[in-house]
Amino acid sequence: MADGPTARRLEGKPIADEIRAAVAEDVIAFTAEQGRPPGLAVVIVGRDAPSTVYLEQIIRGCAKVGIDARFVELEGEATEASVVATIRELNADPRVDGVIVQMPLPPTIRLRSVIDAIDPDKDIDGIHPLNAGLLRLGYDGFLPATAHASVEILRRSGIEIAGRDAVVVGRSAVVGMPAAFLLVKEDATVTVCHRRTRDLAARTREADIVIVAAGHPGLVTGDMLKPGAVVVDVGINIVDGRIVGDVEFESAARVASAITPVPGGVGPLTNALLLTHLIRAAERHAAVTAPAPAAGR
Ligand code: NAD
Repeated sequence: MADGPTARRLEGKPIADEIRAAVAEDVIAFTAEQGRPPGLAVVIVGRDAPSTVYLEQIIRGCAKVGIDARFVELEGEATEASVVATIRELNADPRVDGVIVQMPLPPTIRLRSVIDAIDPDKDIDGIHPLNAGLLRLGYDGFLPATAHASVEILRRSGIEIAGRDAVVVGRSAVVGMPAAFLLVKEDATVTVCHRRTRDLAARTREADIVIVAAGHPGLVTGDMLKPGAVVVDVGINIVDGRIVGDVEFESAARVASAITPVPGGVGPLTNALLLTHLIRAAERHAAVTAPAPAAGR
C-alpha cells in the first residue's frame, strides 16, 4: 500500500469561484432592475474582535461583485439596547437586504436578545430561531453559511449522500446541528457526536461521511475512519501560527477516499454561499416592497 495520501482533495475554491461568477451576474441584473445594488450591513461591536478579519473578507468579497456592503461599528462598550436598536434600524432600512452580526459578542450582551432582533428575512446567516425552525422542519429558510458549505461541498463534488451513514462531530447551533439537519434532508442516516459522546472513534469508524466541527485540532485521525470514508473538516484552529483543521490531514488522507483541506476547503465556500443568501434576500425584499400594480377594470 502507498504511504502517501490517496484521498481526493475536495477543494472549495473552484466551487466558490463558480458561485461568485453566478452571483456577479445576479447582482448586475438586480441593480439594473432595482436601480440600487443589493445591500449588506455587518454589525461589529469593537474593532479588535478576532472575527473582524473574517468579516473584512466578506466585505471585500461583496465589493468585488458589486454588492454594497458596509460595517456598522459600535463602540466596544456598547450596551445590549444600543446593539438591538442598531439592528432594528437596519431592519427598517430599505437599502439593506441582509444583516450579519459579529460573533462572539462581548459577554455583557445577551446573544438571544441580539439574534431575536434580526429580521428573519434579512438573517442571511440563518441564526434567527425562525430560520433554525424552518431548517428543522425541512422547509426553505436561510441556512447558517458554514453548515451549508459543509454539505454543499459534498453535493457539488458529486459525493452521494442519500442512504449513507453520516457522523457529525459537534452539535453547535451554527455548524454541527444545522449540518446534521441538512444531511437528514439529503436522506443520509445521521449520528451527532459531541463532547460527552462515549468512544467517538467507534462512531466515526461506522460512517461513510464524517463532518467534523469541534474546534479541536487533530481530533479525528486516520485510524478513526472507515476505509473509503468522505471527510469534511470544518475546523479552523491556529496552532503555532498555522491554520489547521479538526482532522489530522496526513493520516486521514491515507484512509479516506475524499477529504477537504484546511485551509481551502469549507472556508472559501462559506463566504461564497453567504453571497448567494444575500442575493436571495435582496430579491425577496424587492418583491415585497415593489409597488402594487394599479388595479385594472
Ligand atoms: P463550538 O465550540 O460552538 O462547538 C463545538 C462542538 O464540538 C460542541 O458541540 C462540542 O460538544 C463538540 N466537541 C468539542 N470537543 C469535542 C470532542 N473532543 N469530541 C467530540 N465532540 C467535541 O464550535 P463551532 O462554532 O461549532 O465551530 C466548530 C469549528 O468550526 C471551530 O473550529 C470553528 O473555528 C470552525 N468554524 C469554521 C467556519 C468555516 O467557515 N470553516 C465557520 C465557523 C466555525
